[in-house]
Amino acid sequence: MMDTIFSKIIAGEIPCHRVYEDDKVLAFLDINPLSRGHTLVIPKELVVTIDQLSDESAAAIGRVLPRLSRAVLRATGATAFNILQNNGVEAHQAVMHVHFHIIPKYGDGAGLGIGWPARQLGADEGKQLAATIASHIERT
Ligand code: 5GP
Repeated sequence: MMDTIFSKIIAGEIPCHRVYEDDKVLAFLDINPLSRGHTLVIPKELVVTIDQLSDESAAAIGRVLPRLSRAVLRATGATAFNILQNNGVEAHQAVMHVHFHIIPKYGDGAGLGIGWPARQLGADEGKQLAATIASHIERT
């Protein structure tokens, strides 16, 4: 994987407003926040998308995401928030290092806007697709 802005932040080569760090995870404020308190949570493991992430890093992030979310809510007074995690250019990923956004919502329009072009899932399609996905899950 190529160096990214985030690997440089992890290495201390680029400054950030750090809010949390442990041996596997770093969290810091987004430089262009969608709303006050917009925080990025990243693994120190250098992978591009979440499907490439090790179980160890995934567990470390999963352990602190709720705790960091609570801290952002308490610090900002927000009561609603989105967690966003983009994978791939088509999914709006701009920095090619896995990251989670914690984005507070204040009811003033600031924060994450979401397009949700939903359609109905057919019964047959659902049955077949669920079984196919289930058959591809790696068991450890
Ligand atoms: P993505 O679209 O990849 O999910 O979001 C990348 C995020 O990284 C953006 O919200 C952007 O503002 C943030 N970002 C990009 N470069 C930097 C940087 O140098 N420092 C910080 N703190 N955030 C950055």
